[in-house]
Amino acid sequence: MAYPAAVRDAWRAELAGIREKGIFKDERFIHSPQAARITVEYPAGAPLKEVVNLCANNYLGLSSHPAVVAAAHRALDERGYGMSSVRFICGTQDVHRALEEKLTAFLGTEDTILFASCLDANAGVFEAILGPEDVMISDRLVHASIVDGIRLCKAMHDTYKHCDMAHLEEKLREHQDKRVRVVITDGVFSMDGDMAPLDEIVALAEQYRALVFLDDSHATGFIGRTGRGVHERFGVMGKIDILTTTLGKALGGASGGCVSGRKEIVDLCRQRARPYLFSNAVPPPIAASAIAVLDILSATTARRDALEANAAFWRAGLKDAGFVIKDGDSPIVPVMLFNAKLAQEVARDLYDEGVYVVGFFFPVVAAGQARIRTQLSADHDIPMLERALEAFKKVGAKHGILGLDKKGIIEKYGL
Ligand SMILES: *Cc1c(COP(=O)(O)O)cnc(C)c1O
Repeated sequence: MAYPAAVRDAWRAELAGIREKGIFKDERFIHSPQAARITVEYPAGAPLKEVVNLCANNYLGLSSHPAVVAAAHRALDERGYGMSSVRFICGTQDVHRALEEKLTAFLGTEDTILFASCLDANAGVFEAILGPEDVMISDRLVHASIVDGIRLCKAMHDTYKHCDMAHLEEKLREHQDKRVRVVITDGVFSMDGDMAPLDEIVALAEQYRALVFLDDSHATGFIGRTGRGVHERFGVMGKIDILTTTLGKALGGASGGCVSGRKEIVDLCRQRARPYLFSNAVPPPIAASAIAVLDILSATTARRDALEANAAFWRAGLKDAGFVIKDGDSPIVPVMLFNAKLAQEVARDLYDEGVYVVGFFFPVVAAGQARIRTQLSADHDIPMLERALEAFKKVGAKHGILGLDKKGIIEKYGL
């Protein structure tokens, strides 16, 4: 039989197990464009509700920005809908080349190659340039897509403790016999909102002759004085050998990603990176809109400045209210709840109060580290955030967690 009953039963049991643990991930249907305020149907079939959105990666509020939408309309009319080809056969338009050049200038690198997503960029880049004589040394909390890229590559793999420079140095010493050493890190870590100490990483890489790989998906467009990313923030622009990032977050939020960096690395990706060679070109409207986004961001820092102010206001508000938050200064502000079920319940209660957030728990974060990850946008305003804070206080009080530290929450709710 093609689909044996025993297999079906086993998978149904696994799904039931996920539900029993209270960690089943439901999807909510959004009936409006992506924005600071959205209209949501949740659960399925429930009446629509307007809520403040605190969980999109729409950091700069550009996902539905009129100039971005207009650029897509124009490209749709002038360059069509899809390419029906991979880039190297007949899938490269002038807009693709123009976007790659803009990204190179914006990121301060030598060259750029687009992928259908940053997941694809990370999946393709290591295998394209490294072999068994090389080593990849990654921070232990890098994004899942980097882990996948590492798995697909035949180079040796080692890790260092999260942002632990002494441990990284130890590893770099240990691997001096390899042809190439690549230090691999996220810029802003997506679940904690903290940043890699990139100046120290670059210094170590120079000392021990290693390359630096940076995934700046949660930073491109808004971290650093002019929003170039974590490398700008730490004064090491031009020193990142491999920079990957996404168009799917701050840069309009549709889809697409890239590898930007040393020319030879980009050239090798064009020859060998499998997600580039065997997957379709980025659609013209997306490429054109990404160009419009980079033009906006190159003309003014107003949006990243507004985002920074919103994030500072929000962090201070949650802290004053008595929540346990992860310190940092990115627009990712995790509210720690430790217990997965509690995170789910707090998220549900907040929804009833008109605030849209999602609980994160194992395997997205380590077991016992469940949280609600709030994310700010340049499109939030202070009155909106004040109302959201009131909702957090009300729900926090209901669950008796305001003013409790980590130990207190765990004593009350377990792990
Ligand atoms: C979101 C994210 C990705 C994946 O980006 P997509 O373009 O959506 O595939 C990769 N790396 C990091 C660090 C991310 O946060």
